[in-house]
Amino acid sequence: MHSKLPDHFFRFQKCLLTLVLSALSGCAGVPPGQELAVVTRAQMQMGTLVKITVVARSESNAQASATAGFAEIRRLEELLSTWIPTSELSRVNASAGVMPVHVSPDTLTVVQRAMQAAEMTGGGFNIAIGPAVDAWRVTEGQQIPTESELESLRPLVDLQAVHVDVQEGTIFLEKAGMRIDVGGIGKGYAADQAVDALRRAGAVAGVVALSGDIKTFGRLPGGKMFPVGIQHPREDGAVLAWIDLKDEAISTAGDYERFFERDGVRYHHILDPQTLQPARSCQSVTVIAREGVWADGLDTGIFVMGPERGMELVEQLPDVEAIIVDAEGRLFVSSGLKQRIRLP
Ligand code: ADP
Ligand code: MG
Repeated sequence: MHSKLPDHFFRFQKCLLTLVLSALSGCAGVPPGQELAVVTRAQMQMGTLVKITVVARSESNAQASATAGFAEIRRLEELLSTWIPTSELSRVNASAGVMPVHVSPDTLTVVQRAMQAAEMTGGGFNIAIGPAVDAWRVTEGQQIPTESELESLRPLVDLQAVHVDVQEGTIFLEKAGMRIDVGGIGKGYAADQAVDALRRAGAVAGVVALSGDIKTFGRLPGGKMFPVGIQHPREDGAVLAWIDLKDEAISTAGDYERFFERDGVRYHHILDPQTLQPARSCQSVTVIAREGVWADGLDTGIFVMGPERGMELVEQLPDVEAIIVDAEGRLFVSSGLKQRIRLP
């Protein structure tokens, strides 16, 4: 959930996706004449800036809904963060090679979805990548891990050795030293659950954005969909494309958010599980899906697959669309999005 690489090691860029809320007037989905309240609040959670916007029938209901959304994300962070030693995933990791650990339905679901994302992306997505991610992190002073160092970690990056027992409600990592980390999918899941919390609290529409993992529901007052700008992977602050969302999630995986450069080569935080090196065939992958858990899980996996195989997968999946920028900066847009995006 948190960035796995030290801040000083990389140049952070602002945010992946820019959310623009405009024209906050008029009414949608409520009786004519009824005023809607719009509230936006932000907090640091899951190692990132979380921004929640709520449309509700009153200011107090909007505030209460936003509070419920943040509380839900906090609850999930306490289950899933590998930075919290008492979290369920930390306990699973601490018991690697020893015994299965009982976990809550949420943790079980996220890990199950992650295993499904791994299957869909031909192993491009791999939540057991943690030890390799850390090998890149420990290289203080921007040193690159040696092949033999990475080779010694390879047996640990093994999804066959991750056992999810739905009946028992347990997760077991077979080999000592293994670690799973839902950094590539957990923010999308949290966005989904936070949106459900907003709805339960009475919101009529809203947006939950965990940095670049965004889930929307309903429409803005006035009936407009939620406009989202996708960050250009090589031009800081520039928008690659605009898209309007309604009851959809969007997520971007990019090589520009956390990286360092050495001898003209860019080293970033998405690793190819086959080589344990930074994945090389994309600059950014944006996925739009009904659920944030799929948008987030698939963006990272497709980033590893590359534009051709990645786009082939997207075209097969119902309700999943993508915008891919390949290593040369070429833009690939899935068939269902071509009519929907606006270029700046
Ligand atoms: P973020 O929004 O934090 O950049 P991403 O969805 O792009 O999240 O996922 C990147 C994170 O996922 C990394 O920080 C790392 O912890 C983890 N990761 C890196 N490579 C992989 C991979 N091949 N499969 C699954 N997770 C990965
Ligand atoms: Mg992801």
